[in-house]
Amino acid sequence: MFERLDQLEKLSRELEPTAEQRESTRDKVIAYSENFLNGIGELKAFESKPDKGIGLLASPISEDPMNIDEVIDLLHLNVDSQGLNPASAGHMGYIPGGGIYYSALGDYLADVSNRYAGIFFASPGAVRMENMLIAWFAKVLGYPETAAGNLTSGGSIANLIAIVTARDAKRINSLNVARSVIYLSQQAHHSIQKAVRIAGLDECILRYVNVDEGFRIIPDDLENLIEEDKKNGLNPFLIVATAGTTDVGAIDPIDAIGDIARRHELWFHLDAAYGGFFMLTDEGKKKLKGIEKSDSICVDPHKSLFVPFGLGAVLIKDTRQMQKSLAYLANYMQDAMNSTDELSPADLSPELTKHFRGLRLWLPLKLHGTKPFAACLDEKLLLAKYFYQEIQKLGFEVLCEPELSVVIYRYVTKIGDPDEFNKRLIEAVQNDGRIFISSTTLNGKFVLRFSILSFRTHLENVKLALKILGEKVDVLS
Ligand SMILES: *Cc1c(COP(=O)(O)O)cnc(C)c1O
Repeated sequence: MFERLDQLEKLSRELEPTAEQRESTRDKVIAYSENFLNGIGELKAFESKPDKGIGLLASPISEDPMNIDEVIDLLHLNVDSQGLNPASAGHMGYIPGGGIYYSALGDYLADVSNRYAGIFFASPGAVRMENMLIAWFAKVLGYPETAAGNLTSGGSIANLIAIVTARDAKRINSLNVARSVIYLSQQAHHSIQKAVRIAGLDECILRYVNVDEGFRIIPDDLENLIEEDKKNGLNPFLIVATAGTTDVGAIDPIDAIGDIARRHELWFHLDAAYGGFFMLTDEGKKKLKGIEKSDSICVDPHKSLFVPFGLGAVLIKDTRQMQKSLAYLANYMQDAMNSTDELSPADLSPELTKHFRGLRLWLPLKLHGTKPFAACLDEKLLLAKYFYQEIQKLGFEVLCEPELSVVIYRYVTKIGDPDEFNKRLIEAVQNDGRIFISSTTLNGKFVLRFSILSFRTHLENVKLALKILGEKVDVLS
């Protein structure tokens, strides 16, 4: 037995590299990442290669090790130099992410110490850190200090947690689900419909409220629908509004919707995944007026706080209900359950074991302070206004004024099908690759979206986008 143990130990000890091995491997990883960051200005925002990363498959996971240089080559060729580059300042499609550097260092530290941030007993400091971040969100978003919250992997899970809590708070069950009604607009993010289905609410009635010319919910229309449904013996229980819709960046009239929800005793969930942190700016505060009237809110630090992908958050005013919906006691966890001074993330989420994700936001907030974050968001609001002005001078039509940092526009051709032309235009821009823009369909029209949120996108990048769009129009028309 001891001989066998000796053999096994020798092999398993390979999982603990020596200080020298750590240093040499780390140096190569750092050199690679520095190279990436120093060259980020020259990297394309979008690159389509015919092999599509298939080289990875030629190097299957095997019993035997490979050296770091070869591994970095695989990563470089097959992953980091293909497709959409979210780290690029030229990423102006979808809702861009970012990836501020100190988050990477936060992740590194969290991974090295591997603190367990699920339960207060296990790591009081890690849980306090996450709860401090939730409390700071509450302050920024106008929520009471007593609100509970959870750091999730993203906005979709945040929306799911809110919808599950709303379902239980409003006692939706097998007896009433089919006559229970959820109100939203066609502009709501599809993670809402997904969450509704996962939460077992697929049999609910989904009422799509009409939107105005700026693609915002019309409050009177919402209230009429609720009243009519009540008259017909149905059970309205949930309104979902959006602060920053994905298509156009529209903000539903939050204040008026909050009043309607209160009057009719409905749960009001606000999906502010994209728009929420604009509350750090004066303009954002005006635009998101009434935000505190919501019962739950979803925000996405991996969008509007620029951290790398993997961090969303949900805040819920009714702490007890959130715990009732998401906490569970297991026998094997009994020692961990007697601490009461802080809420434990595991009691507010479907997750038990999770990444210590607080550190990837706490570290940059501590090292930068909040001012550059607010400035960066203000900058994006202004840049969107600038693009909105300038793109019209190039003969494009705009569909609505930007409320946040998305502009919807399309080129109006004198002859031929404008949908067809704009499809060719987006293709030309994507093939060029220096910037990346996306498209959507609004009122049956194919339209282009200019959407900026990367912390790296500044005036020079917007000017380049305008220049490229102008050049491609000239070539195509
Ligand atoms: C991005 C987004 C989501 C989904 O969030 P993920 O972080 O991608 O899961 C939900 N709602 C809105 C409005 C969004 O912009």
